[in-house]
Amino acid sequence: LEHVTKKKDYPTVVRQARSNMQKFENCVLLTRVGGFYELYFEQADEFAPLLGIKVAIKHTNAGDVSMAGFPFFQLDRYLKILVQDLNRYVAIADEFPNEKTKSGDLMHDRKVSRIITPGTLIDENFMDPFTNNYVLAIHIEDHAQEPMHQFPHLNAPLPVGLAWLDLSTGQFYTQSTDLSALPSYLARIGPREIVLDEDLQASKDHGIFSILAEDRHLITYANALEIQKVSEWSPMLESPIAPRVENTFSPEEVAAGSTLLQYVKTRLQGSNIKLQPPSRQLDMMGIDKNTMRALEVKKTMREDMLTGSLLHTVRRTVTKGGARLLDNWLSSPSTSLDVINARLDLVTFMLNDELLRERVIILLRRSHDSHRLLQKFAFGRGDPDDLLGLKSTVYATQELVATLEQDSEEEACIQAMITRINLEGPNDLAKRIGDAVDEEGLMQQHRLEDGEVGEMQALAQRVVNSEGSTEDSYILPKGTRKKKTTSIREYYSEDNDTWIMKPGASPTLERLHRELALLQNEKQKLGEDLKMRLGAESLTLRFTPGMGHICHVKGKDMKLNLSDVRSVGSSKTTRSFHHPEWTKLGQQLDQCKIHIRAAEQRVFQELREEVIRNIVKLRRNAAVLDELDVACSFATLAAEKQWTRPILNKTFAHKVVGGRHPTVEGGLEEEGRSFITNDCFVGDVKRTWLITGPNMAGKSTFLRQNALITILAQVGSYVPAEYAEIGLVDHIFSRVGSADNLYRDQSTFMVEMLETATILKHATQRSFVIMDEIGRGTTPEDGTAVAFACLHQLYHVNKCRTLFATHFHDLTDMVGKEEMEGIGFYCTDVREDGKGAFRYDHRLREGVNKRSHALKVAKLAGLPDEAIAIAQKVLDGCIRPV
Ligand code: ADP
Repeated sequence: LEHVTKKKDYPTVVRQARSNMQKFENCVLLTRVGGFYELYFEQADEFAPLLGIKVAIKHTNAGDVSMAGFPFFQLDRYLKILVQDLNRYVAIADEFPNEKTKSGDLMHDRKVSRIITPGTLIDENFMDPFTNNYVLAIHIEDHAQEPMHQFPHLNAPLPVGLAWLDLSTGQFYTQSTDLSALPSYLARIGPREIVLDEDLQASKDHGIFSILAEDRHLITYANALEIQKVSEWSPMLESPIAPRVENTFSPEEVAAGSTLLQYVKTRLQGSNIKLQPPSRQLDMMGIDKNTMRALEVKKTMREDMLTGSLLHTVRRTVTKGGARLLDNWLSSPSTSLDVINARLDLVTFMLNDELLRERVIILLRRSHDSHRLLQKFAFGRGDPDDLLGLKSTVYATQELVATLEQDSEEEACIQAMITRINLEGPNDLAKRIGDAVDEEGLMQQHRLEDGEVGEMQALAQRVVNSEGSTEDSYILPKGTRKKKTTSIREYYSEDNDTWIMKPGASPTLERLHRELALLQNEKQKLGEDLKMRLGAESLTLRFTPGMGHICHVKGKDMKLNLSDVRSVGSSKTTRSFHHPEWTKLGQQLDQCKIHIRAAEQRVFQELREEVIRNIVKLRRNAAVLDELDVACSFATLAAEKQWTRPILNKTFAHKVVGGRHPTVEGGLEEEGRSFITNDCFVGDVKRTWLITGPNMAGKSTFLRQNALITILAQVGSYVPAEYAEIGLVDHIFSRVGSADNLYRDQSTFMVEMLETATILKHATQRSFVIMDEIGRGTTPEDGTAVAFACLHQLYHVNKCRTLFATHFHDLTDMVGKEEMEGIGFYCTDVREDGKGAFRYDHRLREGVNKRSHALKVAKLAGLPDEAIAIAQKVLDGCIRPV
């Protein structure tokens, strides 16, 4: 195709598209042509079927060109498919008016104005409002080092800098870590896209690639051109319930941050990036990747679904910002007693004052997603509706402050929230928005069809761009699509205008609306006058695309003999003609409306600037609302489920009385069954619990519920128990369930060992470890040996709180001989009725249960009777290996 392009025989648009496709070769290029976005050449062929649009063949001198397009106001819909569903990068080439050619046509340049990727969405309608959309950059300090080990996380720790941001909210974070902890960070942050240094690309065997490949992350490359300075950014206010942050950064973090900003800049093609200042959050509990999965914190293990996860079970937030904050908190519980207790105080307060909580929730519901709205304005986007959204949020915040002050001024936890809200500035802004934006006019516009609204807004925008230039023409919807074009001047000649600003929004607007009213009055008079003068009862003054300002008559009036007019069309029953007086007045009306649109845009622009001037305050206020929402959410949950306030302290104890599993309990309730509560006192006297018992009797559930209670407690939530006292946990580790799909080429045993290795290496005395049936994937002898070694290590070296469930009953005897008196023995059991039937009671008791009841379970599962009989014979020693 190269040489074909050089012949320059393609029409201009096609040539421009070809050259953009070459410049942005890894992107799907969407080229704006009039009212459409078009795909060309092979991209039209490849993507049209996926987008469900038709390919057309354009015959040109240089040969046939495939093209496929959609109306521009449907951009979001197609972006969703390309970016969200197909994980593609999309380059948008917009039209920029160029000078006129000799023939008088207005030429357009078509330059790529933005590249949209899964990680760099700003305000696309298809974004998930309930989670952050992060793009993450990873910087590895020593690129030269060869990996020592086939399993990257076992290599010598390499310093790794992380920086991640959400363009749609402006949040920007960093962290220093090492390669071994990278998978956990990835699981916690959940980035949509990952940016690596370009020079990493050359050293493919680094080890990082196998980490990233596991979850099939979308990877891009970029290089920091310069180190970014971030010192002058205004930070968020400190909150007693938000994680403590630090604003000094390691060299790795700075490098990652610079790469990230560089990447985002190229994606936005030079438009200004407005972000919150970067920060590193401190005092976070570690939850490694396996644990996030195994405990189903944010997604279920099997289907990767939100429904059934811890997040889904506990979420009672009513705002989008609150939902995102909860998501963040759950994946990084706190290790700061102050923060946790401050959160719990607020929850307790909201729980006890039900009336206040209800009022607060009503007000929160009235607020809009400020973070994302503000970010739209920061990027020079946003529309009048967004302004109204901000206005209602400011008013809701005002009422919120009043409500809280009235009820609970003396409460320290409430005071800490109120004092961070600053409405000086936002209040004026809200008033100005209310005075300027024509809410009713907007409502009317919304009653129009979707497409038309987009059309009108875009047209309004263009009017300003082209300073009322009449050459600028557009394709309109409503059946005129693709065929007739019409000018803005014509479009606005109809009297069915809707305005976005009130006439009083500016002196200019006031004057223009007066003028418009006069002109409309004149139009009416002219109509009457012409009826009289021409003797045409049915005459109306109209505007029609293609014909312009016309007089319209019907019936007997068609036969009138009109000498001084120019006929422009007739049908069987009607006749249209130009009349110089109406043409002139019509044009004056058009001009006036064009000026109104332009003046409206100027008011809008001023309001947008005022939003930007208030952005720091508005963001800080929004952060307080998010926190209130999460606190109310926890309070609502606690009230609904009768949960208990946990007691956190610096001991190494884990005392839970009457503990329940939050999601399993919910599932059982739905089936009308009840959950059996169990106690757990691990850490104080006995720091390890060795748990035996038959399958299906509730061992895993018990292990997980205690880990989940710890997480909930340190997030600052009430917990499903009658009493809970938790000595702060620095890290939760787990080796549970099957994670066999993680490394597809590894055996179950290998996976087990890899995960166990991580735990034994990293667990501290402050950690909480759950181990479920380690050693399953090999022979019973080997399994017992490995399991015992792990138990031994956890007990003597790591000294962490451990819940250790096993099938290897010999372990219990071995422990006895080794004098590990800090190990407690607990077991689950089944109830038998003496007639061969049995049921699980899911109650944990002290002791060892060496009966596996395996054959009963097998029978329950429907194994044929003959098979059960044979198995019984083996057990009884009647059948032996030779
Ligand atoms: P194990 O690990 O001993 O094989 P699980 O913990 O997987 O057993 O439990 C099996 C099933 O038993 C669970 O899916 C749940 O439905 C039920 N169950 C577990 N614990 C309880 C409990 N405490 N109360 C009621 N049902 C329970």
